[in-house]
Amino acid sequence: MADLRELYQETVLDHSRKPRNYHALDPADRKAVGNNPLCGDQVILYLRLDGERIAEVGFEGQGCAISKASASMMTDAIKGKTPGEVDLLFQKFHAMVTGKAGPAEDNSLGKLVVFAGVSEFPARVKCASLGWHTLKAALESKASVSME
Ligand code: ZN
Repeated sequence: MADLRELYQETVLDHSRKPRNYHALDPADRKAVGNNPLCGDQVILYLRLDGERIAEVGFEGQGCAISKASASMMTDAIKGKTPGEVDLLFQKFHAMVTGKAGPAEDNSLGKLVVFAGVSEFPARVKCASLGWHTLKAALESKASVSME
């Protein structure tokens, strides 16, 4: 677990300093804003769809390193996926960060497993899942979502 913790810190630092896909999409097929008032995090997510599949994704935002890093890694993980596939991934991710399940055995989470460490810090679970909730809102054509 010590290795994973180190990897977690490195990954969060890397992705919060240099977030991937950190730009608006104009035009975008979907756009949603997610807020986590508890921590002051905001994620604005943009999607371009190819049929059902996510063809392009971009995000902007502000807030803590965890929210930014998690949204950044999520954008890398969801390209080319359908809403159903995204949903499954989010369920596994959420079970992991809330400590209900370990990192999925089937390796489906890929690099996202570094966020397993978040389960030790319950206050940060909302930071780590904000991007995912915002993505879900965008896929459901909702304009915004707030983590109360
Ligand atoms: Zn936060």
